[in-house]
Amino acid sequence: MKPDFEDPGIRPLARAGLAPMTKRNLIEAAKAVRENSYSPYSKYKVGAALLAASGKIYTGANFENAAYGAGTCAERVALGAALSAGERKFKAICVCGIDASITPCGICRQALVEFGDIDVICVGEDGNETRSYLLSELLKASFGPANLG
Ligand SMILES: [Zn+2]
Repeated sequence: MKPDFEDPGIRPLARAGLAPMTKRNLIEAAKAVRENSYSPYSKYKVGAALLAASGKIYTGANFENAAYGAGTCAERVALGAALSAGERKFKAICVCGIDASITPCGICRQALVEFGDIDVICVGEDGNETRSYLLSELLKASFGPANLG
């Protein structure tokens, strides 16, 4: 039986529709903030850089806690920083992990889709290997503000 969801797979960054310099800045910001990850338990460092429609980039790193459930993903840290600065519209997010197979978790996909469809650029720690998706591909048939009527 064919699954309902088809893996979009590896696509060139051009799909993201961002200027090459903007993409590079986003990738470098995610890579840099990843170094600030507080992940003593999993040792899985993640950095995220969220590009707002204003052109500003907001970053976040994942953080863990001895009470495991108190930790938070990098994507939601970046989103919180952007929202706290008054941003409400976004163009893209870059997530930097060990390799480009990283993608935002389900909770982060849901948190991001609240603000519309954006490009999701996934990158390895070297900043070179990339995969890009649309958020709507990663979270099909999502629940959003329109569902509340
Ligand atoms: Zn997450």
